[in-house]
Amino acid sequence: MSNHPIVKMEQVSFKYEREWVVKDVNLTIRQGQFLGLVGPNGSGKSTLIKLMLGLAKPDRGSITLYDRPIKNFSNWQEIGFVSQKANSFNSGFPATVLEVVKAGLVSRIGTFKFFNKKHKDKAMQALHTVEMEDYAHSNIGELSGGQQQRVFIARALVSDPSLLILDEPTVGVDAKHVTEFYDLLGRLNKEQGITLLMVTHDIGTITEHATHVVCMNKTVHFHGNTEEYKEFNDEDLNRLYGHSVQQLTHNHDHDEVNPS
Ligand code: ADP
Repeated sequence: MSNHPIVKMEQVSFKYEREWVVKDVNLTIRQGQFLGLVGPNGSGKSTLIKLMLGLAKPDRGSITLYDRPIKNFSNWQEIGFVSQKANSFNSGFPATVLEVVKAGLVSRIGTFKFFNKKHKDKAMQALHTVEMEDYAHSNIGELSGGQQQRVFIARALVSDPSLLILDEPTVGVDAKHVTEFYDLLGRLNKEQGITLLMVTHDIGTITEHATHVVCMNKTVHFHGNTEEYKEFNDEDLNRLYGHSVQQLTHNHDHDEVNPS
């Protein structure tokens, strides 16, 4: 069902120690959206994702996933996650691209022992989606940062998630491949109907691709469609974040971790 809420956070607050890191967050992610989540370093973006993935428990507030309170939610295959550090395999790591993608099926089949032809086909199909099937038998560590990141997206896609969460996925993707990377995300969203939530510092690029923007600094300061966000001038943005917008737009994306 289009537009259906798949993540709903109400008055969610969380602290690691004494200080609130996430405070009174209200956020609904609806099916079919492509959301860019932006905010200064240390503003709680990754923690918000941890909360959504059930890796941390809110001190206050409630989270529902696909209409179920998170504590009763078990269908984790529905949610794919690609982390920021995914693309840091060094060249010595002894796994092929196909093996890395098949590992994404472990939560579905419960063990490494029972990979069969069907699982291989599924993994190859995911590699096809990210245009990396030609590299199936390459060693993961030999690929560039951008190629590795595509492989990790394939690993997340192999269990057919309907929501894909990406935490700064363009870190380590060299600048000339970033546009292609966003095109891939756009296709997943528009053609396969996958809902996307992407944490990024790259505000300029995300507003070219996302349908919605969420700006947070402990709490959500803005959540709306991208066109609305684009209307803001620098002064509005400074007010919005309670920070100089420079802190947001300093771009540490595109550092080449493992250039080809
Ligand atoms: P962002 O993703 O926006 O950079 P984070 O969610 O990573 O922000 O961090 C928010 C705040 O929580 C930061 O001040 C960070 O230092 C702190 N923090 C993150 N992880 C931990 C942890 N495991 N223990 C204590 N503090 C943490």
